[in-house]
Amino acid sequence: MASNTHGSGNSGTGASVPDRPAVRSYLTRLVCSMCGNPEEVDRLKNVCTACGRVLFYEYDLDAVRETLPRDALRARDATLWRYRELLPVRETRHIISLGEGMTPLLPAPRLGAVSGFSQLYVKEEGLNPTGSFKARGISVAVSRALELGATALGIPTAGNAGGALAAYAARAGLPCYVLMPEDTPLANKLECVLYGANLYLVKGLINDCGRIVREGAAAGRWFDVSTLREPGRAEGKKTMGYEIAEQLGWELPDAIIYPTGGGTGIVGMWKAFDEMERMGWIGSRRPKMISVQAEGCAPIVRAFEAGERHATLFANAHTVASGLRVPVAIGDYLMLDAIRASGGTAITVHDDEFTPAMRAIARAEGISPAPEGGATYVALTKLRDSGFLKTSDRVVIFNTGAAWKYSELLETGLLPVLDPADPAVQAQIA
Ligand SMILES: *Cc1c(COP(=O)(O)O)cnc(C)c1O
Ligand SMILES: [Zn+2]
Repeated sequence: MASNTHGSGNSGTGASVPDRPAVRSYLTRLVCSMCGNPEEVDRLKNVCTACGRVLFYEYDLDAVRETLPRDALRARDATLWRYRELLPVRETRHIISLGEGMTPLLPAPRLGAVSGFSQLYVKEEGLNPTGSFKARGISVAVSRALELGATALGIPTAGNAGGALAAYAARAGLPCYVLMPEDTPLANKLECVLYGANLYLVKGLINDCGRIVREGAAAGRWFDVSTLREPGRAEGKKTMGYEIAEQLGWELPDAIIYPTGGGTGIVGMWKAFDEMERMGWIGSRRPKMISVQAEGCAPIVRAFEAGERHATLFANAHTVASGLRVPVAIGDYLMLDAIRASGGTAITVHDDEFTPAMRAIARAEGISPAPEGGATYVALTKLRDSGFLKTSDRVVIFNTGAAWKYSELLETGLLPVLDPADPAVQAQIA
């Protein structure tokens, strides 16, 4: 059995980490978030067989509450696997980790001074393996797929998820197939090839890639690990919610500003807050969940403004923030429900605003922001101007990736080029 081969071949990865002893699994169910239909929890599954929507893992939270006091977390390693009782991997030996998660929640006093906010924080996700927070969801999805016997993995990607899958599949010893729009940033293509993934470039967007991956999965070529069509990825991303609570001393901020593509982050954090409340780790207060999208691809903002629970396909989707180039999302209702229930909002940013915001964050704080991270800062200032946020609010903005993955954008936006024949060349240096 290929699954046994992979399982035993890789058993050292988790077990060799000394302070990661085997723990009991508290995983109980796999349930549809839309219609409540239960699926077999210990089988490889994608979407609800009854309605086609998103499946969520559930845990015996009463039992976790009994056995895991939140303060016990302090002694654990600084990865997202510190929350392993709340993650869907039953056996420690199946954990495929590259040190993802427990990223710093950096106070940003200089950026705060420039923008007027007295309690501004940046959740610095660019420090994850492969330079984006996609490492979180992919670490959990690959671990779980390995545990359940997958022998190959397939993914449609706007860029960073493909690079992350390439790395974690390599570490798991599993072959992977990455389908990516042909005009994705070069760094994303190169990392896939570097890690030995089978990379295919597609004339189209992530939803076109998704169709090809679903057909391949149906033909038995690989297991589909698409965003929210595989239940482990949201579990990996939910750890951002656990971390923010833990890092702020079990108090949530007033607002979280998050750049939204497929939406796993918002959906995952919202689920984490609910789980934490049910374990008595936090109270019932929630941050305003604020979704940021690009003007050229804003299906969630459009649906939010129209008062709809589902978003329609955003035609001619385009933006340089490749992680936000997601014209349709299966978890639209989960994002929109969370934004509304939290008293949050959804807002767009124009492509011309990304590079100046990246520069502002980088120069004020020494943080390397992806354009998606820059978008959260633009949203912060817009929501201050509109009065939606108060400058005394405690706000967390997400930098979801590292600037260096977007070298084409930086090259056109940042590098000054002098023309020696220009008599005004000295003036350009001033
Ligand atoms: C994927 C991605 C996003 C969007 O994240 P979702 O959780 O899928 O909405 C934002 N920023 C970057 C850098 C990404 O790679
Ligand atoms: Zn369903």
